[in-house]
Amino acid sequence: MGTDSSKKYDVIIVGSGPGGASVARELSRTGKKILMLEMGDNAPIKGSLFQMAMNAGIPGQSLLFTDKSLLAMVRGVCTGGSSVFYCATAFDPPYGMLDSYGIDVREEVKELKQEIPMEPTRDHLMGVGATRIMESALNLGYDWKKLNKFIDQDKCKIDCDKCSYGCPYGAKWTARNFVEESTKEGMDLVNGAKVTRILFEGDTAVGVRYRKNFSDHEVFADTIVVSAGGVGSPEILRQSGLYQAGYDFFFDPLTMIFGTVDDLKSKGEIQMSAGFHNTEKGYLMVDLNFPTPMYWAQSLPKLRLHKAFSRDNTLMIMIKIKDALGGRITWNGGVRKSISDADKNKLKDGYTHAKRILQNAGATGIFSGWTVAAHPGGTVKINDMLDSNLKTQKENLYVCDCSVIPEAWGLPPTLTLLALGKRLARHLETRM
Ligand SMILES: Cc1cc2nc3c(=O)[nH]c(=O)nc-3n(C[C@H](O)[C@H](O)[C@H](O)COP(=O)(O)OP(=O)(O)OC[C@H]3O[C@@H](n4cnc5c(N)ncnc54)[C@H](O)[C@@H]3O)c2cc1C
Repeated sequence: MGTDSSKKYDVIIVGSGPGGASVARELSRTGKKILMLEMGDNAPIKGSLFQMAMNAGIPGQSLLFTDKSLLAMVRGVCTGGSSVFYCATAFDPPYGMLDSYGIDVREEVKELKQEIPMEPTRDHLMGVGATRIMESALNLGYDWKKLNKFIDQDKCKIDCDKCSYGCPYGAKWTARNFVEESTKEGMDLVNGAKVTRILFEGDTAVGVRYRKNFSDHEVFADTIVVSAGGVGSPEILRQSGLYQAGYDFFFDPLTMIFGTVDDLKSKGEIQMSAGFHNTEKGYLMVDLNFPTPMYWAQSLPKLRLHKAFSRDNTLMIMIKIKDALGGRITWNGGVRKSISDADKNKLKDGYTHAKRILQNAGATGIFSGWTVAAHPGGTVKINDMLDSNLKTQKENLYVCDCSVIPEAWGLPPTLTLLALGKRLARHLETRM
């Protein structure tokens, strides 16, 4: 066991996704001595299928299967977490929900909107498929709007299909940007470091144990922030004796709907350029253009072999629902959750509307792909395991990531997590 007690930190942050990166960036600016431990690698983002598969497609690590329906859940395991592979859509936080738990992040969101790119998709970057879908939806009376993107659109390439592989041009903003700012301010970042448990003296957290290169290490700090994501954080907390973590969570199941037109010739597009939030029914409908290998992964197992070479002429709509809380994270970070009948009906309803939009756009051969999930959260909830400052029942131990969201919500959470990170950093500053 490697124990370096000579190097004690002010704060250890576990995980480098949006929640952890935001805490790190805010605190590193105040000169705090910070260590960030990240289980994944820090290789430069190349925009390759291979890199995406290594960081978000390893079964049992970043590609997790639920026990019943073999529904797959994706998470990014590398510096920046899932934000490296996300669709970069910024939704405002659920202010009303957070208010009811005594949490106001309006000021933090206002600042973030000045600090990182967040604007609706510009006209010239709307892909041909996204434009065709939007025109059809508007024509049918849907309130289909351009969405805010975490994208520096000056750097964005037209006809590019690399968004989902990780943007190699620095156009897509990811949590890695905040991590890099923090390391420039002096933060230590250790990659390939899997935190296995929190260390306590009595009821006070004093450090963490992590595994790197087949050996265990212990490091110590005055404050520990666990930001290992909706699956990683409850796994660590449970291994550390906080057994209530990891129950009754959401993971926002989603299904892709495909339809072929004759003359699209789409080479690649910004994902989720525009869409419609059906607040009454609880789902989101958006355009989402997959590159060929991901299109194959969705269409070929559904026996749409004759569609194998139709990607460029395929319109794609994603339906993402707000699912009911349920299920559990297993002792080893597995996911156990099935989709309720009510949630299946939401997906069916979304399919009916997506089909209508696609048909109105002239598409034929409409079919749906696999149902997958991508936003695990609510596994270490505020008002259940955390107070409104994101503190656990243990002294000096905090959680800041998607696991803290207290209720099912159903919308992309990154802006909310960044804001919660800023707010937590400010709270911690007052205590240090
Ligand atoms: C394909 C896809 C598309 C998405 N699109 C959008 C979108 O358009 N807009 C949006 O707002 N959100 C989107 N999301 C969701 C968003 O990316 C996540 O909600 C967000 O990244 C969660 O942030 P987090 O801080 O909870 O942690 P994560 O991003 O999950 O990061 C946690 C980090 O902790 C690390 N870790 C885990 N366990 C350990 C451990 N034991 N020790 C050390 N490190 C550990 C992981 O490797 C990871 O880097 C998308 C997600 C996916 C997968």
